[in-house]
Amino acid sequence: MTDSPLDAAGLRRRTRRFLAEHPPGSTDRLDFLRARFDAGLAWVHYPEGLGGLGAPRSLQAVVDDELQAANAPDNDPRRIGIGLGMAAPTILRYGTEEQKRRYLRPLWTGEELWCQLFSEPGAGSDLAALGTRAERDGDDWVVDGQKVWTSSAHLARWAILIARTDPDVPKHRGITYFICDMTDPGVEVRPLRQITGEAEFNEVFLTGVRIPDSRRLGEVGDGWRVAQTTLMNERVSIGGTALPREGGMIGKVAQTWRERPDLRTHDLHQRLLRLWVEAEVVRLTGERLRQQLAAGQPGPEGSAMKLAFARLNQEISGLEVELRGAEGLLYDDWTMRRPERVDFTGRDAGYRYLRAKGNSIEGGTSEILLNIVAERVLGLPPEPRTDKDVAWKDLAR
Ligand SMILES: Cc1cc2nc3c(=O)[nH]c(=O)nc-3n(C[C@H](O)[C@H](O)[C@H](O)COP(=O)(O)OP(=O)(O)OC[C@H]3O[C@@H](n4cnc5c(N)ncnc54)[C@H](O)[C@@H]3O)c2cc1C
Repeated sequence: MTDSPLDAAGLRRRTRRFLAEHPPGSTDRLDFLRARFDAGLAWVHYPEGLGGLGAPRSLQAVVDDELQAANAPDNDPRRIGIGLGMAAPTILRYGTEEQKRRYLRPLWTGEELWCQLFSEPGAGSDLAALGTRAERDGDDWVVDGQKVWTSSAHLARWAILIARTDPDVPKHRGITYFICDMTDPGVEVRPLRQITGEAEFNEVFLTGVRIPDSRRLGEVGDGWRVAQTTLMNERVSIGGTALPREGGMIGKVAQTWRERPDLRTHDLHQRLLRLWVEAEVVRLTGERLRQQLAAGQPGPEGSAMKLAFARLNQEISGLEVELRGAEGLLYDDWTMRRPERVDFTGRDAGYRYLRAKGNSIEGGTSEILLNIVAERVLGLPPEPRTDKDVAWKDLAR
């Protein structure tokens, strides 16, 4: 019998055979992950030779279920979220064969971490206004500028970077997309402390950093289009993780409600029920979005999902703090940790409440996502864009 990877039964057999050849209990974790990648069972919708089998994305669940049942190690997706959710789909779409072969395997196994050098002090929502310069010098590009809010830059080996290569054309047209080696001379990473006390992110100074042209992703001047793939995937990867019922923030407050009858009031009960229903609606909408995604690239609907995710996380974590009363305000751990992974629903109620504030900023602010939904989902008139035809160097700053 052949193991057609394109149907569920064949994929199940293939996964079981893989498990028999690489028993999770007695195989080194990294060896297991590398072998899983090489067997095409990492992300089945990727091409053969790049961790996949060219199978429909929806079949990944078949592999995951088998591996989970066998207690197989995973690649710690929360630790490598930027690589998995943003860098990988962009490399897959725009990378050369050589780039795909070099970067995707250690990205997926978690041997090499990635960060995202997009935002700058003067360019966040208006990302296309960015001023970090990349100038051609022989086979290299020389990069100078400053990036900010760079999550995991202190851990990352590689960064996806956008920089201005032509200041003489309008802002969206003079940008190029690169892969930057974070260990290269001229890359300086400094921690930025957040409201939680932790420093998940950083400011990054780039001074005369030399990037070989072979690490350019896409055409010169086409970086804005390449970045759209990253940004669309980012929104889905922040708000669209698959969850079981009560798997997200709502599960935490529901648990407190069940365990602490002494805290209950009628008013809080009504709010909890409303938020529980909304959380379930958003969870099921996420399910539908993932099915759409299985059929192609993420669209602007991911923005709506991320918008709802951020609002709910903030409302639910606020409800939990209120529910706990004075106890809910007892956030006293201001240690400047440098966490390896971010868990929105981790630690205590105070942490969850403070961390949720960033959810409506990271990956595009809620106001910007509302604009995207208005224009691209609902077809409403766009915001006036007076700088569309003005060379970047002539824009007011
Ligand atoms: C936890 C966290 C992690 C992050 N990680 C990264 C990372 O790894 N890499 C990276 O590159 N960036 C990262 N960011 C940065 C994030 O993408 C930016 O903060 C975000 O895009 C907003 O940009 P800004 O901070 O410059 O705010 P601004 O763009 O200055 O916005 C300020 C305010 O004005 C509003 N506003 C701006 N323009 C409009 C408009 N046209 N219409 C209506 N309202 C508007 C915004 O909604 C916001 O409320 C992270 C941010 C956070 C909070």
